[in-house]
Amino acid sequence: MKKVFTIGRYFRKKFGEDVYKVPLNIQGFTCPNIDGTVAKGGCTFCLNESFSPNLAKPSKKFYLNPKSNENPLLEKQLEQVRIQYSATSKRLAGKYGVKKFLAYFQSFTNTYAPIDTLKALYEEALRQPGCIGLSIGTRSDSVTDEVLDYLVELSQKYEIWIEYGIQSIYDETLEKINRGHDSENVKRWIERSKSKGLNVCGHVIFGLPDENEKMMLDTVRESIKWGIDSIKIHPLYVVKNTALAVDYIKGKFEPIDEDTYIKLLVESIKMLPSNISIQRVTAGIGDDSLLAPEWCRNKHKQMKHIRAALKDEGYIY
Ligand code: SF4
Repeated sequence: MKKVFTIGRYFRKKFGEDVYKVPLNIQGFTCPNIDGTVAKGGCTFCLNESFSPNLAKPSKKFYLNPKSNENPLLEKQLEQVRIQYSATSKRLAGKYGVKKFLAYFQSFTNTYAPIDTLKALYEEALRQPGCIGLSIGTRSDSVTDEVLDYLVELSQKYEIWIEYGIQSIYDETLEKINRGHDSENVKRWIERSKSKGLNVCGHVIFGLPDENEKMMLDTVRESIKWGIDSIKIHPLYVVKNTALAVDYIKGKFEPIDEDTYIKLLVESIKMLPSNISIQRVTAGIGDDSLLAPEWCRNKHKQMKHIRAALKDEGYIY
């Protein structure tokens, strides 16, 4: 049996022990695809306030913008880093005995802010006990050489990952999901990040509108060529109060079924060269916000089916 090269195995190989990611959700971050800079409304599957105004609080909200140095939230954000990191890392340490962590800037676009704010937040995270590095989720149209060079500097001392949403290499699909950038843009910034020496993770979605199996596997194949070090793959599921939910209700979008998803996932894993790790093999949501498909409701069941399918192909997850 061959072991799937998971990110967990990558960390154990590199650091001799487990390293877990600590997700952080910092107030004030937004996305150029939501605030109108690139588009409004965001990706069709994204639950955000511009599509779902009932999520918005009545009070005036402040959002970060890389073009302005203004950030009245900084003290609060630094506190959120400390509080969220402490709570999650302590829970993970208690449950799994883990001592090393990466601070994972996860929600929205985590390089879409003034550089001074990014530096302050990233460095605050790196000062937390057990924090050995960062994983930063972002869009390829929201990075600059200045940010990348700063991350390269940090990477001399810490484990630094930048995570780009690729989703699909097909521009017609990216248009359908209102992604706000094309595939060439992702390719350019992944290659640029790699040429500077950063660790890059690419995020891919299976089951995007009107994509066939070949298109989904093409996305994985191309992403590998662009030089990613790690990949996240998950199915597109429909969350209530999104543009995709409207399409689904009107019968304009049909989610991918579980068997097809797992078949493509296994194909993708078989395609990965031995140096590329996998960080995610599925996703789901177990609460009322999920509209479809039902199989995305139970992550435990999904994982059981994925492990079994991999085992049939001679892989242990
Ligand atoms: S890039 Fe991310 S945060 Fe921005 S609209 Fe798309 S899914 Fe939402």
